[in-house]
Amino acid sequence: MAVELPENVVVSKLDHLANWCRKNSLWPMPFATACCGIELMATGASRHDLARFGAEVFRFSPRQCDLMIVAGRVVMKMLPVLQRIWQQMPEPKWCISMGACASTGGVFDTYCVVQGVDRFIPVDMYVPGCPPRPEQLIQAIIDLQDKIQREGTITGEEFEVASRQGRNRSLLELPIIQR
Ligand code: SF4
Repeated sequence: MAVELPENVVVSKLDHLANWCRKNSLWPMPFATACCGIELMATGASRHDLARFGAEVFRFSPRQCDLMIVAGRVVMKMLPVLQRIWQQMPEPKWCISMGACASTGGVFDTYCVVQGVDRFIPVDMYVPGCPPRPEQLIQAIIDLQDKIQREGTITGEEFEVASRQGRNRSLLELPIIQR
C-alpha cells in the first residue's frame, strides 16, 4: 500500500544523511612539509576557492579536523609527529596523500625519507604530480566526497584497519610511536 507523504517531507536512510553531512563539511588538517604545501595554500586561496566544496576550514588543532592532507615529503624524523597528529584526530577521518613525495617518496629514494605515507597511516586518495595543481587536489576532494557518500556507515565499519590498508603494505595496525 502506497503511503502519501505530506508536502516538504523527505524520507532517507540515516547512513545516507550522515554521509551527506560529513562529505560537505570536511575540515582539513594541513600537514605540509615541502613545495606541495604551496599548492595546498593556493587551493584554499581566492582563485581556486576550496570553500565551494565545503572544505576550506583549515584547522591546526587535530581534534577539530577530519581530513588529513599530507603535502610534501615526510622524513623518518617527522613520522612520529605525523602519526601522533593522525591518532589525535577523531573518527570519522580521512587522508589525502598529495604529490609524488607523500605517496611514494618521489625522487628521494633514500633511507631517511618515508617511501609512501600509506605505510604508516591509511590513505583514501592519492594525488599524482610534482607538484600537483590545485585543480587536482580539488578533484581528489570531490572523489573523496563521493567515496564518503557511497561507502560511509554510521557505525564506522568502513574504518576497520584491515580494510583500509593496501594489500601489499607492511603494517596491519598503526603502531603507537613513543617519543
Ligand atoms: S612532489 Fe614535488 S613539489 Fe611535491 S614535495 Fe615532492 S618535490 Fe616538492
